[in-house]
Amino acid sequence: MKIICDWENCNEIGSYKAPLEKDNSKKYRLLCLTHIKIFNKNWNYFENMNDQEIEFFIKSDLTWHKSTKTFGSSDNFFNILWNNALDDKLNIFKSSNFRDFKKTKVSQQDKDALQVMELNEEVKWEQIQSKFKELVKKYHPDKNQGSKKFEDKLKKITLAYSQLKKTLGKK
Ligand SMILES: [Zn+2]
Repeated sequence: MKIICDWENCNEIGSYKAPLEKDNSKKYRLLCLTHIKIFNKNWNYFENMNDQEIEFFIKSDLTWHKSTKTFGSSDNFFNILWNNALDDKLNIFKSSNFRDFKKTKVSQQDKDALQVMELNEEVKWEQIQSKFKELVKKYHPDKNQGSKKFEDKLKKITLAYSQLKKTLGKK
């Protein structure tokens, strides 16, 4: 049986998962391609996540410790986040959805975030995106014997990425 998109007044087939909560539960609804794109654009994955939630995200078994399995084998928020935001199969985070920094208007928060990500203000969004992936791989707990030091580093990187995404994302 085909599932119909959960978006109001939509009758397309729903084949994409949209998480309902930022937690480890498997609650999601199914949307069609048009509506998953709208959903992902509007839903900032990292925004309003507190320290603890980010830490949970970073430590999540389902995010990190099943790297030999495909991420598609589980449906929780972290997995959906990985597929939608980091892997970006739907091109939601492609550069046309983001602007560049205006040199005169870089806030201190953005400067700090750029520093954490080892980038400067000349950076284009796609470089931020690929740097984020690179750093996430580099500081992956599995690659660092679960070192607390690297976990903290990864948490800072995630917050920095979140900050830059908020600043540069087009409304
Ligand atoms: Zn739809």
